[in-house]
Amino acid sequence: MTAHPSPRRHAYWTDAAREVRLETRAFINGDYANAADGQVFDCVNPATGEILGHVAACGQADVDRAVAAARNSFEAGRWSRCDPAIRRGALLRLADLVEEHRDELAVLETLDTGKLIRDSATLDIPGSAAVFRFFGEACDKLLDEAVPVGSGALATITREPVGVVGAVVPWNFPLKMASWKCAPALAAGNSVILKPAEQSPLSALFLAGLAAEAGIPPGVFNVLPGFGPEVGAPIGLHPGIDCVGFTGSTEIGKRFLSYSSQSNMKRIWLECGGKSAFIVFPDARDLNAAAQAAAAGIFFNQGEVCSATSRLFVHEDIRADFTTLLLEAAKAYSPGNPLDLASGMGAMVSEEQTGRVLSYIDKGRNEAELLCGGTRVLTDTGGCFIAPTIFTNVDSRSVIATEEIFGPVLSVLSFREEAEVVQMANASQYGLGASVWTQNLDRAVRMSRALHVGSVSVNAVDNVDLRTPFGGVKQSGNGRDLSLHAFEKYLDLKTTWISIQEAAA
Ligand code: ADP
Repeated sequence: MTAHPSPRRHAYWTDAAREVRLETRAFINGDYANAADGQVFDCVNPATGEILGHVAACGQADVDRAVAAARNSFEAGRWSRCDPAIRRGALLRLADLVEEHRDELAVLETLDTGKLIRDSATLDIPGSAAVFRFFGEACDKLLDEAVPVGSGALATITREPVGVVGAVVPWNFPLKMASWKCAPALAAGNSVILKPAEQSPLSALFLAGLAAEAGIPPGVFNVLPGFGPEVGAPIGLHPGIDCVGFTGSTEIGKRFLSYSSQSNMKRIWLECGGKSAFIVFPDARDLNAAAQAAAAGIFFNQGEVCSATSRLFVHEDIRADFTTLLLEAAKAYSPGNPLDLASGMGAMVSEEQTGRVLSYIDKGRNEAELLCGGTRVLTDTGGCFIAPTIFTNVDSRSVIATEEIFGPVLSVLSFREEAEVVQMANASQYGLGASVWTQNLDRAVRMSRALHVGSVSVNAVDNVDLRTPFGGVKQSGNGRDLSLHAFEKYLDLKTTWISIQEAAA
C-alpha cells in the first residue's frame, strides 16, 4: 500500500484538487437549489484557465425566495429568540466542521482564486473557523443593561438582532470575508443571506452545507451565488433586508449607500478600498526586517488585499540601502502553481483583474521608474500570473500612487521630514491602514495619532487579529469587522421604561 502523501507535499494537494467535490447550487431555506430560471455561469481556475464547474447564477426571484425564508426563520424565533447558548453550540460546531474540512475548503479556495494553497490551508480556512468560534463563544456573554433611574421606574437597554442581514463579499479572501460578516450577524441572532463574489463562490456554497450540519435552522443562513447587478443589487434594494455588510470596491460600496436610500434606509456597513502607507524612518532598528515586511505588505496574496501597503515612503537618507534590501526580499514572491508549496505567489483571480493591473503598470511606466517585474509571466500555463512589480521615483500625485491597483505593484516614494510624510500619507481618498518603522517612541505615537486610518502597525505590517477591530475611515468605509465591536453592527439597542407603583401602605 502506498502511503498517502503528506499535506506538506505538492502531490497531496494535486490529488486533493483532482478529487474535490464542488457544490455549485445556491442554498436557500436549508436546501441546495438551482437558480429559479436555471441559469449558470462558468467558474474558472485562474491558475490554468480551466473551467471548474457551472455555478447557479441567481437573480431577483432567488433573492425574493431567500429573503422570505430568512424573514420567516427570523420571525419564528428558533434562532433569533433562542437562548444564546444554543447559538453558541451551533457556531462552535460549525467552527469544528470548517476545521475538519480544512483541506477540501483550502483546495476550493485555491482553485477558485489562484491563491497559494499554503495560505488557504494555514491562514484562510483555520482563520475562518476561528472567527466562527470567537463570535460563537462571545454571544452568550453579552449582557444587557439596567439603568439607575430611581424607585419610580425600571429602565432597561436590551440588544436585539436587526433582522435579515445581507452579506456581500469579495473574492480575495472568500471564506474569511464571509466569516467576518456572517459569524457576528448569526451569533447576534439574525438571519443571513450571503452573496459570494462571482469569481469565488465555491467555499461559501460548501460552508452552507456545514452550517446546516452544525444545526443552524433552515432559512437562517442562505447563500446566493451570482453577479453583482443580478444578486448584489437586489439585496441592496430589497425592502425585506434590514442591514447589509459589504466588503469590496469603493465604487460598489457607494452604490450600496444609494440602494439603501432608494429603498428602506437599511443600514450599510462598508469595508472598501485602500492605498495604505508603509513608512520607514532612518532610525528603524532593522532595515532588513522592514524590507521583508514591505515586500510581504504588497506581495502577500498577489497584492489582492484591501489593506496592502501599496505606497512605500522611505526616508531619503536610507533610500539606496533600503531599495537594495527590498529588491532582494521581492525575490521570495516569484509566482508559480498555487498548489505547489514552493511557489512564492499565486495567480491573479481572473483575466479581467490581470488586465486591470497590467494597465496600471503601463501607466506607471510613463510616470515612474520600473525597478523590477512589470510583466505577465508563465503564460504557457494558461494562468493569470504577474511578476512582483516595484516602481521608484514615484510622484505622490501620480495615478499609481493614488489609485487602488489591487495587484502586486508597489510605488516607492521618498521624504525628508516627518510632517511631509504625514501630509503625503494622508493625502488619499482612503484611510484603511498604515505601517510605521521607527525606534523613536515619541515619533511612533505622534505618527499613530497623525495618520488618518483605521489601524496603524508600528514596526510590523498589517497586524490583524480577531480580537481587534478592522476597518477604515474616509472612502475606505465605515463600521468595523472583527472584535466584540462587530456585534454593534448587527444589534439594535432597545430602551424599555416601566413605571413602578409604590406599594399601598
Ligand atoms: P472587485 O472590484 O474587487 O471585484 P466589487 O466591489 O466589484 O469588487 O465586488 C464586491 C462584491 O460586490 C461582489 O460580491 C460583487 O459581485 C458585488 N457587486 C459587484 N457589482 C455590484 C453591483 N452593481 N451591485 C451590487 N453588488 C455588486
